[in-house]
Amino acid sequence: MRQSNGKRTMNHIAQTVPRMSIVRRMEAVRERITRAEQLYGRPAGSVELMAVSKTRPASDIHQALDAGQTAFGENYLQDALEKIDQLAETPAKWHYIGRIQSNKTRPIAENFDWVHSVDKLKLLRRLGDQRPEHLSPLNVCLQINLDQEESKGGLTGEGAAELVAKAGMFPNLRIRGLMAIPAPTPDIESQRRPFRLLRLLRDRLATTAVPLETLSMGMSADLEAAIAEGATMIRVGTAIFGPRQPAAGKQPDPT
Ligand SMILES: *Cc1c(COP(=O)(O)O)cnc(C)c1O
Repeated sequence: MRQSNGKRTMNHIAQTVPRMSIVRRMEAVRERITRAEQLYGRPAGSVELMAVSKTRPASDIHQALDAGQTAFGENYLQDALEKIDQLAETPAKWHYIGRIQSNKTRPIAENFDWVHSVDKLKLLRRLGDQRPEHLSPLNVCLQINLDQEESKGGLTGEGAAELVAKAGMFPNLRIRGLMAIPAPTPDIESQRRPFRLLRLLRDRLATTAVPLETLSMGMSADLEAAIAEGATMIRVGTAIFGPRQPAAGKQPDPT
């Protein structure tokens, strides 16, 4: 590939994975979703799967597309824009899930279908102004910092309430719901607690005008806990594409 050395190494490693394995992994993840829907009384098909393809080559995404996957999540803007360009003729829908630098909102507004990591009014303003008129409104989730960790992005409940109240100011945006990345914990009961808090916050903030129907929560290690607590969209990377290589020279992984 025509990238930096770091990327070439990653692509090389990714391409040594046997071709069928992404398809098989996708099947296994879909089975986990179906089982969790049944176990926790969720309607069949009520949980959408986003495949987190950050750091993966376009060839991996092609395999997932062949297996019927259309929603893809990306964190690293430059890497994502190249893949969006390469895969422009496919049905892929793009979700931006990484930290947003306010001077980089325009390419997000112009190239993505969803953004899950909005945590400032300034970002809503910029994305709303920069969303091209010929595209449908940009779907937005507000990222909530459930752990109150200073180092992590995300709004408090109060901060989210202020943004929801201003949703009507942005005709080119649709505020669809809430997103969170809780700190990893091993057992399902402690995994469920922050997801439950996110659902309760959603219930408190939802209005008729802004129903916040999307709960973007749950990753490879905790998707069952998230589904138990009402996730409507789970963001799964390693369980589909295998272990990630550290992204040399890129911003640290926000998880
Ligand atoms: C990387 C990432 C994921 C996927 O994590 P896995 O553990 O690989 O499933 C989900 N959400 C966000 C915001 C991420 O950065």
